[in-house]
Amino acid sequence: MKTTMNGTLEITTPLHIDEARQPLVQAQGVRKSYGPIEVLKGIDLSVQAGQVMCLLGPSGSGKSTFLRCINHLERIDGGRINFDGQLIGYAQRNGKLHEMKPVEVAKQRRGIGMVFQRFNLFPHMTALENIIAAPIGIKKIPKARAVAHARDLLEQVGLGDKASLHPSQLSGGQQQRVAIARALAMEPKLLLFDEPTSALDPELVGDVLDVMQGLAASGMTMIVVTHEVGFARNVADEVVFMDGGVVVESGPPSAVLDNPVHERTRAFLENVI
Ligand code: ADP
Ligand code: MG
Repeated sequence: MKTTMNGTLEITTPLHIDEARQPLVQAQGVRKSYGPIEVLKGIDLSVQAGQVMCLLGPSGSGKSTFLRCINHLERIDGGRINFDGQLIGYAQRNGKLHEMKPVEVAKQRRGIGMVFQRFNLFPHMTALENIIAAPIGIKKIPKARAVAHARDLLEQVGLGDKASLHPSQLSGGQQQRVAIARALAMEPKLLLFDEPTSALDPELVGDVLDVMQGLAASGMTMIVVTHEVGFARNVADEVVFMDGGVVVESGPPSAVLDNPVHERTRAFLENVI
């Protein structure tokens, strides 16, 4: 598939090969450059619904960029990303693919939640207000329903008694759990995590990972960039090791983490464990 100058796509392969078995996320040959520097050099990855993929790799290998491409925060320069049967950034109209309009982008993004290293909560809002803002403002959910759902989510992340506190009154780990609840409030089909525990004091990491493990057990589809090898071993269905903008190796945790084939993977794991 090629992008033409006017932003339409020339389809050279069928878009819907087998709907039933189609992964929820499928990246094929994804390329991304910043100026002359190519940071993603043809990434092929796919995640089935209900599965957890952990993305590991040294700093600068392109992990965040890849997540940002899925979530419309960056535009890819080549390849394609299919999400839930639709190409990221492209809509089908009159039998042709066109670049999505902002309103279509917003709709697609609603199906994808993202949790960042820095929790990015609104500082002037309580935990509860942070969680209900998007459901009310964007999804137009009635306030009473949004509040009831937010209270359930706060319970789920172990913060049922913290609804009326502001971010500054919460620990980093608690703030991150509010951020997870906030992402869940939009009922996403996919959750992206970009080093969700890297900014936390070590004693606060476990509570956040426990919440994430619970989500995984409940069937949430997740792509998690993390250096927490223990989490990847316990929770991931697939572990991917990236370096220098390419996937070096991928497979079940027992293969990639315990019997890595590539020297680069081995060297990385020796440093993080
Ligand atoms: P990782 O998350 O694996 O640490 P990133 O995806 O953040 O890697 O970065 C990959 C490479 O792209 C790095 O060399 C980084 O400096 C570069 N990069 C990331 N974002 C930008 C940007 N907005 N402009 C220019 N270069 C960038
Ligand atoms: Mg990063």
